[in-house]
Amino acid sequence: MIVGVPRESYPGERRVALTPAVVPNLAKAGLEVVIQAGAGADAGYPDALYVEKGAKVLPDRASVFSSADTILQVLGDGANDITGAQDVPFYRRDQVLVGFLRPLGTKEVVQQIADAGVTSFAVELMPRITRAQSMDALSSMANIAGYKAVLMAADLVPRVFPMMTTAAGTITPARVLIIGVGVAGLQAIATARRLGAVVSAYDVRPAVKEQVQSLGAKFVELPLETSDAQDERGYAKAQDEAFYQKQRELLGKVVAESDVVITTAVVPGKKAPLLVPAGMVRGMQPGSVVVDLAAERGGNCELTKPAQNVVENGVTIVGQVNVASGVPFHASQMYAKNLLTFLQSQTKEGKFLYDMSDQVTTDTLLTRGGQIVNKRVREHFG
Ligand code: NAD
Repeated sequence: MIVGVPRESYPGERRVALTPAVVPNLAKAGLEVVIQAGAGADAGYPDALYVEKGAKVLPDRASVFSSADTILQVLGDGANDITGAQDVPFYRRDQVLVGFLRPLGTKEVVQQIADAGVTSFAVELMPRITRAQSMDALSSMANIAGYKAVLMAADLVPRVFPMMTTAAGTITPARVLIIGVGVAGLQAIATARRLGAVVSAYDVRPAVKEQVQSLGAKFVELPLETSDAQDERGYAKAQDEAFYQKQRELLGKVVAESDVVITTAVVPGKKAPLLVPAGMVRGMQPGSVVVDLAAERGGNCELTKPAQNVVENGVTIVGQVNVASGVPFHASQMYAKNLLTFLQSQTKEGKFLYDMSDQVTTDTLLTRGGQIVNKRVREHFG
């Protein structure tokens, strides 16, 4: 089987779906690699490295789509809502597509993939089971985004992060608040701690308290009923508006005392909850920074504008989208490893197994034979 890697086409995207290092491992699994010229260049992987590892470089996008049985992308149609649909004319019936496809996004887009007869696997739907951890691309990208969010904040805030004892006096450490302690939030805590900040963190799932404390941060406890905050997959459940209202009232004081607030709170398939309203931002000190990692999902901060920095009363609200693309070398390395493990589990002697007793297959398989076949996605669209 030939797997093909087109150059990513989302504006500003710098990642690539496969790195040279995984090419020999794919060959061992019976998978040959073709890659569009320059596909890895922005991530720091020149064509020559792919060739050295046994991949074939093809001159353009059309030739990758026409020669590959399976297409591997970072942002496929759906997840790439700007240029993703331009690939649809290239699709061939029964070609396999693996990538971020935003399966719980817009029904029309998912239907478009189905209608093209493409068999697609959406990496966002990877089950959270131990065996699939090494295939979990959402976690990989969340790790990178959490790290990068802290660096963006550190760059913008007019303070240093660590305590400094100098001849010119003592500087107090920056106070950083992380709201939403999933994978991105935990990495943000660890990164801010490494830079010497005093870190607090809050999550609606009380189960994360110990993880927060083990990273040397303070867990912010709010007197709210949170026993039913987590679903069976470990994700946060949506709460009612009265809950969010109360949460905002209680969080206001902690936010006002923070130099940096990083928000990561999302609920799968839903608009991100509003946690930092405009009034709360006005209560922050000028020079403070809010990094809203939920910007592309509607934002946790009322003032967030996706893909922009907004300044309100001297407070900068960072609405950067596609944050993981800002660290393309390692984001691609992790993503390529996720795809390698996924393909090793889903193919044998260069053929897809479609083993419907394997939860990794049933959870990630999105379209096949012209239909949206995924149970969770079908239920989501009703
Ligand atoms: P996520 O990206 O879905 O959400 C980010 C965080 O925001 C979550 O911790 C969530 O609880 C929180 N949140 C949502 N609404 C909130 C609100 N109103 N106020 C405050 N916080 C709110 O989360 P994630 O990174 O996908 O992680 C969710 C859980 O799944 C974590 O416990 C993580 O460790 C776990 N996980 C397990 C596996 C696995 O077992 N394979 C893989 C990845 C993640």
